[in-house]
Amino acid sequence: MGGAMIYERIALIGLGLIAGSMGLRIKRDGLAGEVVGHARTEATRQTAMARGLVDRVCTTAAEAVAGADLVVLCVPVGAMAEVAAEIGPHLAPGATVSDVGSVKRAVIEAVAPHLPQGVHFVPAHPLAGTEHSGPDSGFPQLFENRWCLLTPEDADPDAVDRLTRLWRALGSDVEALDVDHHDLAVAVTSHAPHLIAYTMVGVADDLRRVTDGEVIKYSAGGFRDFTRIAASDPTMWRDVFLNNREATLEILGRFTEELFALQRAIRTGDGALLHDYFTRTRAIRRGIIEAGQDTAAPDFGRGPKGDDA
Ligand code: NAP
Repeated sequence: MGGAMIYERIALIGLGLIAGSMGLRIKRDGLAGEVVGHARTEATRQTAMARGLVDRVCTTAAEAVAGADLVVLCVPVGAMAEVAAEIGPHLAPGATVSDVGSVKRAVIEAVAPHLPQGVHFVPAHPLAGTEHSGPDSGFPQLFENRWCLLTPEDADPDAVDRLTRLWRALGSDVEALDVDHHDLAVAVTSHAPHLIAYTMVGVADDLRRVTDGEVIKYSAGGFRDFTRIAASDPTMWRDVFLNNREATLEILGRFTEELFALQRAIRTGDGALLHDYFTRTRAIRRGIIEAGQDTAAPDFGRGPKGDDA
């Protein structure tokens, strides 16, 4: 597990949920000689130091990446290009740049053009998260028993191996995937479900306005879960949908077709169709439980887990 140092100096750009969880675990297990961090606001940098997410903070991303052999971009997907442009000229030769963005094709297109020759780019996406965000939200067990997907394309194999070792040391199972396959897979398992949760909460809120009734007060199981997912960070999720547009629209198209089929079954009283459908979906849930993926991690006192992006 921990112990062995994998990088001399890791720079984390952005100090929210994901970077904070990485920093706490890297420091706890001695996976790097030093962890340096940067966030754009002073308040975030102060909290990061107070919580010990990193060993030191820098006021600019350029300063933070100097001399780092691993740089991980942990900002919202829409901010990746700007950050990459800033750090490009300051990266150490032979360094690895990675990211944790929830979308891979758009991030590669945003980041790769800014990286100099001799710097290795290994994009990554940990499938772990909660509805909380910011420098107060991270915890070192976040990635335990979760997948971390890499989309290395033709990246240097040694750089890929080293990053794989880091994510394994953070507690994750690591797998390499084709970029577009990644984007479609997360559209169906994470992005579209989030949009549906946002929509359902919006519908209930609308109904409340129209009826002036107490819909939300009587919040029951299914809806309560939707409201938790719909509490996820608005900036991050705006960027996910704007940057995984094609795959999300493809999945939402299929979703709408299925929804119409179920709607019709209800209208026509086709109980057999509904029963068969729900039997099939129940089996999928059992499969997820058997694969140990029903919760992101045990509840470490920070509320329910598993709303990864
Ligand atoms: P977060 O908690 O909201 O933290 C975002 C961090 O990025 C903050 O430190 C923020 O700094 C900084 N930041 C925001 N906009 C910036 C900009 N324009 N320039 C520079 N820094 C900026 O976010 P997170 O949940 O850790 O997500 C980070 C990345 O991980 C995203 O790309 C997301 O898609 C991906 N991801 C998230 C999850 C999840 O479930 N949360 C799961 C997997 C992957 P300030 O506080 O100073 O503004």
